[in-house]
Amino acid sequence: MAATSSLEALVDDTERLQALQRYGILDTPMEPAYDELADIAGHVCEAPVALVSFVDRDRQWFKSAQGLPNRETPLDQSVCRYALRQPNVFIVPDLAQDVRFAHYGIVTQKHPLRFYAGAPLITPDGYALGTLCVLDHRPRQLSPRAQELLSALARQVVRLLELHRANDRQGQMLAELDAARQQMAVLAHTDVLTGLANRRSFTERLRQEQALLQRGNEPACLLMMDLDHFKRINDVHGHHVGDQALQLFADLCRSVFRAADVVGRWGGEEFLALLPATGVEQAQAVAQRVHVALAQQPLPGIEPPQQLSVSMGLTLFDPLRPLDVTLRLLDSALYTAKREGRSRTVVV
Ligand code: GH3
Ligand code: MG
Ligand code: MG
Repeated sequence: MAATSSLEALVDDTERLQALQRYGILDTPMEPAYDELADIAGHVCEAPVALVSFVDRDRQWFKSAQGLPNRETPLDQSVCRYALRQPNVFIVPDLAQDVRFAHYGIVTQKHPLRFYAGAPLITPDGYALGTLCVLDHRPRQLSPRAQELLSALARQVVRLLELHRANDRQGQMLAELDAARQQMAVLAHTDVLTGLANRRSFTERLRQEQALLQRGNEPACLLMMDLDHFKRINDVHGHHVGDQALQLFADLCRSVFRAADVVGRWGGEEFLALLPATGVEQAQAVAQRVHVALAQQPLPGIEPPQQLSVSMGLTLFDPLRPLDVTLRLLDSALYTAKREGRSRTVVV
């Protein structure tokens, strides 16, 4: 082979390298599927060395290296890079007789390699990523039939690459789908503005607690909470400040209630809390903590400073009473709390 256009093989190949990156093959462990194809290539070509070689930016890296101890060599020691620019098998009958390669380590080493034949690994979109190549210790030729088979095996390597990439993509998509599904499940149970349980999930939890109480669980309490004069906050400071106030109240609930308690947004500026295994006196103490915490927490971004307050109805959760009756009872207790001056808890 003449030593012409040897440097052309080193032209800027940014796009080709990007294509190579997309396959995510570089520096992956050896895999039997690639080893088997290289092994067959060696056998078909009657060559002791067979490689699945990828030509990277500054090295060639071997996915499979049959009959060779290393897994990569520097690019300036690569014969494969010359094989990338043609669709057919690139053959160097005697490396030692070719000025491009005569100085290569594989040629000058003690037990030199002299013969090279490489079929490019060409992707469906036309990028040559590397080669399936064979090498021999003696100068020689490769029959047209063996060349055809080497090219066919190279196409099999590319199909394998494509298959792995499709599998990876599928795995990635499944993971994304799973994350989306989990997020949907959370959203279906959550009030978007406050992050508290929404009415539907809170109702489910109430029914579940009712069943547990009927089976003899420790008594539980229910609190209905309605923010005081909330309309005024919206009217005076705007809906945005009203939303922030609702979030502030939700944050405060998260810090005041215990982990086992469930707080839900029942609607608008109305909230319900379920306190499992809690007596009325204990629940009253929790309610009191909410009143105190609200009184200490001015609404953000409002001058002059202004505190939220909340009115509450509290009752022991009687599992034998229908749920709607319990809720009406709580509502009437709440109404009494409003009438008696707000910012207080009325027990029924
Ligand atoms: P009371 O002390 O008697 O409960 O008076 P109130 O003003 O709190 O009660 P009212 O039922 O008259 O008004 C409730 C207000 O809550 C009216 C509504 O615009 C507001 N509200 C309901 N949901 C939201 C919301 O998601 N964001 C905001 N900013 N306001 C809301
Ligand atoms: Mg209100
Ligand atoms: Mg209300």
